Parts: sequence; structure tokens; C-alpha cells
Amino acid sequence: MGEVFSTTVRRVADGALSVGGCDVRDLAGAYGTPLYIVDEEDLRGRARAFREGFGAAFGRYGAEVDVYYASKALLSSKIARWMFEDDMCMDVASGGELEIALRGGMPPERIGLHGNNKSDAELRRALEAGVGRIIVDSMTEIETLNAIALELDLVAPVMVRITTGVHAGGHEYIATAHEDQKFGLSLASGAAFEALLECHDAAGLRLNGIHTHIGSQILSLDAFQESAERMLGLRAAFAADTGIWLDEVDLGGGFAIRYTPDDEELAPHRAAAGVADAVAAAVDKVGGPWPRFSIEPGRAIAGPAGMTLYRVGVVKHVALEDGGARQYVAVDGGMSDHMRTITYGASYTATVASRVSEAEPARSRVVGKHCESGDIVVKDVELPSDTSRGDLLAVPATGAYGRTMSNNYNALLRPAVVSVRDGEADVHIRRDTLEDLLSWDVAP
Ligand SMILES: *Cc1c(COP(=O)(O)O)cnc(C)c1O
Repeated sequence: MGEVFSTTVRRVADGALSVGGCDVRDLAGAYGTPLYIVDEEDLRGRARAFREGFGAAFGRYGAEVDVYYASKALLSSKIARWMFEDDMCMDVASGGELEIALRGGMPPERIGLHGNNKSDAELRRALEAGVGRIIVDSMTEIETLNAIALELDLVAPVMVRITTGVHAGGHEYIATAHEDQKFGLSLASGAAFEALLECHDAAGLRLNGIHTHIGSQILSLDAFQESAERMLGLRAAFAADTGIWLDEVDLGGGFAIRYTPDDEELAPHRAAAGVADAVAAAVDKVGGPWPRFSIEPGRAIAGPAGMTLYRVGVVKHVALEDGGARQYVAVDGGMSDHMRTITYGASYTATVASRVSEAEPARSRVVGKHCESGDIVVKDVELPSDTSRGDLLAVPATGAYGRTMSNNYNALLRPAVVSVRDGEADVHIRRDTLEDLLSWDVAP
């Protein structure tokens, strides 16, 4: 099924799609649409590819690396359980994500807590649960966390989030390590160094290392090389000042995936070799003992493993100024379950999933049912000109930032998340019900 759908997707004999051995028509019948379908074998295969690929690539230099799954991409307690079983670590970025990870049985020492504005309650809960690392993001947080740790008579294991200034320019990536944004402590201004000294001196904190995250959908290994050099440079400067070589360096996530057949990906094994070589060159240049490294892929694990299944409702043909026409295919969800197109102008593709069509392809746009003209799922795609009400439509590569960014706009019910494997389906998150919706609303 091309390079965009997950690995177990096939066309069955009469032309419908199957995934994980399950016919999408049966899944739509059993769980309704829209539906997020997660290909278990694909998702866990990607997690293993990162763990084994990075393990082997860093192992060649005698170094160790941990892979943290960035759970904000797609989270359920069953996914946390998979990550635990597959020897992964996990990142969470709120108290809610932390509770789901713990419910799935992820050992707290394998959890990292992120966030630029963690509440006192979140910090307290993380400390009491015994999370392995809290990535501190500001001077305020360093003070607050130290006070809470002292009050609880605990020592908080911390890493400091560094803004390296690696400029992820152009449209190649969505940057998070340049200076003018909310995350981290700046390397250039000296704030990062000051934060390290502050953590080192704080009786309630144990400074384990430094963290950075360049951004998302990164294709270029040069960005990781530059980032690693700056991080190791900071580590060496800290050692020169204090005599301490920090134990850990986290280089973040953001490995690119394919959303459409035109996209390139930064596949786990290529990323592993590239990042390990870049890091080795940086260690050589900067000196000091090798730290333990970690990376944090989110979308590259969950994204390609997921698809959204919609039911087509209304099909309309609109004349365009260039003399052509566009087929508007409206589905039973939209910007409430699929935020990335309206938020980032992201590109996706789609295919009719319930049958094959012999009809001519038509220039098409897949839209939702919300009260906005920007409510677009797939901006440009060729779909059969006989696409019609009742057809199932599949949009691939929606595993990451699909369900986790979904909302109830227009009081729509958020779709279920179901995983499939070997012909069996398993509900991770059930669909919202009308009763849910009415229960959140306090009656007059
Ligand atoms: C979002 C995020 C990631 C994961 O990014 P992906 O693009 O999904 O790989 C990793 N680390 C941090 C700190 C993040 O905020």
C-alpha cells in the first residue's frame, strides 16, 4: 500500500483495505467512524527499530543510549504497557500524561517529565511517584522544585532544558531551540550555565545532565550534529568550571516521517547511524568522557502506524477560476479529530478504503463537517470521481498528534482509538458518547 500506510495494510480480494488482519469495513461496523486505527505490529516495530538501531550505533562507540517515547504523540495506558514490554522509556508533559503512563505500568524511574510551566501539584506528584528525571525549564521551576523536594525530604533528579540556538530554518522543521520562544534556558545568554550552577548547588536537586529538543519533522542530520556539538560544548564548559562531567545528554526527538508519497522520512536506522557519528565527532572535538545519551521520538513511532477511517457523507463539485473543478468530499469528522492540517497547513493523503473504483481520478479535497471553511483534512488529493456517500475513506499517518490533539468542537464526539493485530482489534480509548457530552454540561 505504498510507503505511507503502515506495514500490515493490504487490499483484500474485493478491494477493501485491511490492517492488522482486520477488514476496515468490519472495524467501521464495530466501532463506528471516525475511527483511529493503530497497527500494533508497525508501532512496536518502530519503537524497537529506534531502540535497537540507536543501541547498536552508539554501542559501536562503547556508549549507551536510552529511547524515550514522547507520549504526547499518542497515549493510552495500553500503549504505555507496550513501551514497558518493549524496554522503552517514556516522556510525559503533564500530570494527566503521567497518570496514564503509570496506569499502563511504566516504571516511574523510566519516565521523564517535561513542560515549560509545570504546576506545584504536577512536580509534587512526579517526585512522590519517583520519576526518573524532571526536565527543568526555568529558574522559577528550579527554585520551586527544590523547595518541594526539601519539603518532601526527597532529592529530585533533574536535567536542564537548553535552548542551543540551533536554527532550524526554512520549512524543513518546526523549530523549538532558537532563542525567541518559550522553551528552555538560553545557551548564548549564559542563562543555561547559570541554571546548571543553580541546580548543582540546590540541596533538593541532583543534576543528571542536559536536554535539548530541536523541533519536529527534522530531515537533516546536520541539525543534530550542530545541536550535539553545542550541548557537549556546554558540558565541557561546566566541567571546566566545576570539575564535574554531567552524566547524561538528551538530544530530543523530531525525526521526520512521511505524510504523503512526496515526503521523505528520517528512518530509525539512518537516524541512529547519523546521530551516533555526529555525536562521536562532537565528543572527539570537545573532549571529556562519553555521557549516556537519550533521544525522544514521538511521531516517528506512532505517526506512520496510525490511520483515520471516515465515512463519506456529501460530495460536491465546485468550479475553479482556472477552469477546472474540485471534488469536495465531506467526511463525518474534521478539524476536531484532525488538527494538524488547520494548525500547521500539514499535508496528508487519502484513499477510498471500502472498495476499488474504476472511475477516473478527480482533483479532490477532503473536508470535515465543522462550521469553518478551513476545516480541511486533506487539501489536495486525487480520489475516484465516483466517490460517494457511504464510502469509507482512510487517511494514513495520523497516528501521532491525531487523537491527542482532538477536541469537541461543534459538540462532536471524539473518535475511539483501536489497535489491531493478527485479525484482532482492541479498544484503547472508547468513543465519546452523547451521555459523556451531557455529563460535562451542567444542566440549568
Ligand atoms: C514533542 C516532543 C518530542 C517529540 O517530537 P516528535 O516530533 O513527535 O518526535 C520530543 N521531545 C520533546 C521535549 C517534545 O516536546
